[in-house]
Amino acid sequence: MRFVHETLPQRVVFAPGGAPAAVAAEVAGLKATRVMLIAGPGEAALAGRVGADLPVAVRHGEVVMHVPADVADRARKAATEGAVDALVCVGGGSTTGLAKAVALTTGLPIVAVPTTYAGSEATNVWGLTEGEVKTTGVDPRVLPRSVVYDATLMLGLPVEMSVASGLNALAHCVDAMWGPRADPIDRALAQEGVRGLALGLPAVAADPTGLEGREQTLYGAYLAAVAFASAGSGMHHKICHVLGGMFNLPHAQTHAVVLPHVLAFNAPAAPEAERRIAEGFGSRTAVEGLAALREALAAPRALRDYGMPEDGILRAVAPVLDAVPADNPTPVTEENLTALLRAAWEGSDPA
Ligand code: NAD
Repeated sequence: MRFVHETLPQRVVFAPGGAPAAVAAEVAGLKATRVMLIAGPGEAALAGRVGADLPVAVRHGEVVMHVPADVADRARKAATEGAVDALVCVGGGSTTGLAKAVALTTGLPIVAVPTTYAGSEATNVWGLTEGEVKTTGVDPRVLPRSVVYDATLMLGLPVEMSVASGLNALAHCVDAMWGPRADPIDRALAQEGVRGLALGLPAVAADPTGLEGREQTLYGAYLAAVAFASAGSGMHHKICHVLGGMFNLPHAQTHAVVLPHVLAFNAPAAPEAERRIAEGFGSRTAVEGLAALREALAAPRALRDYGMPEDGILRAVAPVLDAVPADNPTPVTEENLTALLRAAWEGSDPA
């Protein structure tokens, strides 16, 4: 066994019901005295609770999915003008993404308080969009210094968004099995992530206000993000990145739809990944495990339901072919990729 694994430096606090005190402790640990509290209008009430004990100098509420460059510029200006010394973000991947954009140019430390299962808080990846082009990059400055996970903040996340976001996390686990830098540690974390998500998500769908399902899902989502950050983007994320950028599709739902198609495509050529994913699900095969979970969750099925035009299938083939890692388990061709995209577009059976 010969590999190099990099573990990213970050404090992670699981504190159900305890975010206000836990975040205050993390901010005090940074010796920060002027906090910029970032939260979109949808999460303003949650942020009000979380920020109750913080030395807040600036409240910033302009959050837009995929972090448009002008939105990032205004947030950076607010941070500079407010002379803040730390960023606290309360929200989903869009909110964490905005905090990362500010940290990228200012070097300010982030304390992240996630309210979805997107997992951006555990990665050193930033993203910005200019027009229709989304640029991503890796930079140690954008990795939050601390993450505070408080499952009670998720009790109000609607079931549909919870399911899509949880399947987005599951996609991190699956792609971490064969990403370009995937190693045995990533696979072990991803397998445990699958187990947590498979246990937690049905409980969330059955009772969105139940704490135990929310906690299991959050635990799985964190492991998923750590594994994914280390392994890097595989075929699944390359497809979703291209489609999301070209057709402005909603992030989590796009992942939820595409995932079973990529799993069915790669599993026959990736026996270790297939075994580990199946074990995480506790099912006979990985494909069956995911199908059963999706069935139980009434998961999103078809890209056409989210606004992708039919002629987008052919338009997406070339950019996806360019982006998919060369060592993807199943060799990707124009024909098999077109068939995969069509199946995801119309929502037909991945198997
Ligand atoms: P999001 O942050 O846009 O949130 C989706 C919706 O859920 C929003 O309307 C939001 O207001 C609402 N919401 C969030 N938390 C809530 C709560 N607790 N209760 C009620 N409503 C709530 O979506 P997302 O899927 O979390 O994040 C998507 C973005 O994150 C994309 O831009 C994606 O590219 C990025 N992302 C980045 C990374 C990374 O490593 N850099 C990883 C994953 C996702």
